[in-house]
Amino acid sequence: MTYDSNNIFAKILRGEIPCDRVAENDHALAFKDINPQAPVHVLVIPRGAYVSSDDFYSTAEASEIAGFHALVAQVARDLGLVGPGYRLIANHGTDGGQEVPHFHMHVLGGRPLGPMLARR
Ligand code: 5GP
Repeated sequence: MTYDSNNIFAKILRGEIPCDRVAENDHALAFKDINPQAPVHVLVIPRGAYVSSDDFYSTAEASEIAGFHALVAQVARDLGLVGPGYRLIANHGTDGGQEVPHFHMHVLGGRPLGPMLARR
């Protein structure tokens, strides 16, 4: 899948639309989800143009992957989630329910999050 440079997270990275910034480093940006599913719902995105988790983990430099995960861990720590617990989610593709085609990790916490998946 080709990267769409007009996706909403690309616009956030370019500063064309605002976000509620939580943290950042050389390789990644963390900001609050616009439609939070828990008291804490932060999105962490790489600065590079990666469509999905498969794209990111198969083509990003090791330093980008390390920097991205360092920011995920920092966000969870800084927001006080390590003690009570939290959940990381990366949706990929249609079955995963990915809506925005720029790789991102959801960091969720602030209450017991219940079963991992809705039962159907
Ligand atoms: P996905 O379903 O792709 O894993 O998650 C996309 C997430 O992006 C959703 O949780 C949605 O609420 C969030 N989102 C979509 N548009 C925006 C936006 O313009 N700003 C922010 N902060 N979050 C957004």
